[in-house]
Amino acid sequence: MPSQTHHFSKFARYVSHIAPVAILSVVPSLALGEEYLNGIKWTAPAIVTPGETNADAPSDAIVLFDGTDLSHWKNADSWKLDGDSMICGKAAITSREEFGDCQLHIEWSAPTPPSGSSQGRGNSGVFMMGRYEMQVLDSFENDTYFDGQAGAIYKQTPPMVNAMRPPGQWNTYDVFWTCPKFKEDGSLESPAYITAMHNGILILNHFALLGDTPFNRPPQYKSHPSKGPISLQDHGNPVRFRNIWVREIKPAEGVQEREPFIRDGKNETPVKKAD
Ligand code: MG
Repeated sequence: MPSQTHHFSKFARYVSHIAPVAILSVVPSLALGEEYLNGIKWTAPAIVTPGETNADAPSDAIVLFDGTDLSHWKNADSWKLDGDSMICGKAAITSREEFGDCQLHIEWSAPTPPSGSSQGRGNSGVFMMGRYEMQVLDSFENDTYFDGQAGAIYKQTPPMVNAMRPPGQWNTYDVFWTCPKFKEDGSLESPAYITAMHNGILILNHFALLGDTPFNRPPQYKSHPSKGPISLQDHGNPVRFRNIWVREIKPAEGVQEREPFIRDGKNETPVKKAD
């Protein structure tokens, strides 16, 4: 294949000074032959306008905090606004909006100068559905148990790497969340899954949660509604947060209109099913 590509690119260069119509008449002939068609009629993917940078909220995001006020959060009386950020107060806060499967962007900064050690240094947490904690901690040159450091699913798994910036600098979490599903009898049908990036670096890759994330007992699943809030923990440290937004997500939609087939000119041949 490399040599073909090479020849083609040389050819494309050669014809580039010829009228475009001449190129168009050449290129389709390369596509002749058998084509696989999956028989699915897809719904057009919604158009989403990205933010100015990848950290800025896209057009379909719900902005939970943009630096102006705390109106999207319950229980936030003790939290303080400061510039474009908010500083952790004496209680956990919980978003008024609730989400199912979603993408979350959140930025946070550990206190500077740093004080305390291990779990006592820059501790907070992002709780998906108000129940499942992804740890926020100053993990820059701060030893603690690995499944309790920044980016850990608390007491279940460490992050794959430590991508922490020094205290006072801004960290980003980009979280891709799949809700757990429960059967009617309350038993678990499928676990929650989380994929996450810390400062653009993959730290959790489709990790299946074992349940909730308490300090004092094993994780467990208990049936809950299909949507829940984002909560931010108060662990007694003045961690800062800014630029928080969430997008609800769902798989692409399509209808299987016919069986998959191969098209070759006017001939259409069903694809043989594997035994
Ligand atoms: Mg915490």
